[in-house]
Amino acid sequence: MISITNDIFDRTIRFIQRSVRWKKPPTRELILEELWRFKILVVMDDLSVASTVKFDLVNLLCRAFPNLTLLSTNEHGLLLPSIAQQSISRDGNMTAWAYQVQPLGHFQSSDRVGNWTYDLAIILGSRKLTNLISATESLFLDASYWDAAVSYEEPGTAESDWNGFGGRLSATMAGIETIKSFIRKIGRTFPEYLNNNTAFDIQSQIRANYSALNLAGYSCTALPLLPKSITIPDSLLVSGGAITSSAFYYLLSMFDVSGAMTAVDPKLIDEPDLNRYLLTTLADVGKPKVDIFKRHESSTLKISTVPVKFQQWYDRSQSCDFVLAGVDHIQSRWDIGRMSFGYLVNGATWLDTMTISVHDNDPMKACIGCLNVDAYQSNEIIPTYGPVSALAGLLMAVRWVLLATQFRDTEVLLKSLYSKSLQPALKGNTDWSLRMPSPDCPIKRHQ
Ligand SMILES: [Zn+2]
Repeated sequence: MISITNDIFDRTIRFIQRSVRWKKPPTRELILEELWRFKILVVMDDLSVASTVKFDLVNLLCRAFPNLTLLSTNEHGLLLPSIAQQSISRDGNMTAWAYQVQPLGHFQSSDRVGNWTYDLAIILGSRKLTNLISATESLFLDASYWDAAVSYEEPGTAESDWNGFGGRLSATMAGIETIKSFIRKIGRTFPEYLNNNTAFDIQSQIRANYSALNLAGYSCTALPLLPKSITIPDSLLVSGGAITSSAFYYLLSMFDVSGAMTAVDPKLIDEPDLNRYLLTTLADVGKPKVDIFKRHESSTLKISTVPVKFQQWYDRSQSCDFVLAGVDHIQSRWDIGRMSFGYLVNGATWLDTMTISVHDNDPMKACIGCLNVDAYQSNEIIPTYGPVSALAGLLMAVRWVLLATQFRDTEVLLKSLYSKSLQPALKGNTDWSLRMPSPDCPIKRHQ
């Protein structure tokens, strides 16, 4: 039983082994043992921090870190949001959810600060309890509308709005900071594996600001508030994988959604998928990936599922208003590029790198096959960590929402964007420039 459920950590362990420049790579067994020892405290002692944002963080963390304590002095602070209630078979709170993802975990909730010492404390909202907490590192999250900030120093004031994309962005960034903190701890505990002067890509960000509209940093708070309800264009989701299912998760956890979508994927959920499939628990292993979408159909949102390969289903004459693509297979990417579509958002991740690109049918612009070459040239099992694909999905959901709302004509949307972000550390690696087709591109060459 233990070896089976430890498969949840498979991709995360591979990510840790591959993403870091180790002096001597730690073994799988060592990383697994240290994951179980790494004690995280999540402090969410503030009513203004929306339950979904808290849940996002817990949902991301419990898939990689099995030793998690949730601290809330508010009795309603730990309840599950509706998007999780639809996937869980009984009433429960966030720890019940975490146990359904990882039954062997050590998840607990508390309404007071105990005498324990944690490796990492993550503080959302109120700082009231901060000086009572004993932790090696403390991470503070802030969010306002489209913008998020993460900080290892206590910020002066807490921002007010946690319901928008900024709140979700702060939760994914906290997930990314958490694995960096974990790797730093391995370096402290086993100096023979990692230099004390830590590698560039695992340094802590003393304070970093991000915008869900532009990771390069400029603030977009001038945009109006988001509506509660949106009507999406007819949407095709190519793959029911981690990236598209994250985009779906963020869309449905933020809005009452009307419209229709079709999800195409032939594969079944396996246990290593659980490290990043935010709508799944252990009970979903063995089910078709597209079933996870269908479960969230509503009276206003029609969801069609196609459990076959995209190539077997797709007809060249078809056209689609909006395509959300998250495939790592080059042939599928080219086939998607040959479709007639109004607007296409592509997401891809490879180790710590994430690419989000926006496409229309302009022949001068690169197709999705021209981007992120590494992702489809390797045959190895993909080493991947949940918050990286969650961040990709979140940024794709932003494009989906912009298209569905009155913001569709904003300057942000009209740009063709390409974002290559170093994860965990985003430092200086965000690029929103227009990309030209590759000279070898079979899609653009024949147009
Ligand atoms: Zn191309």
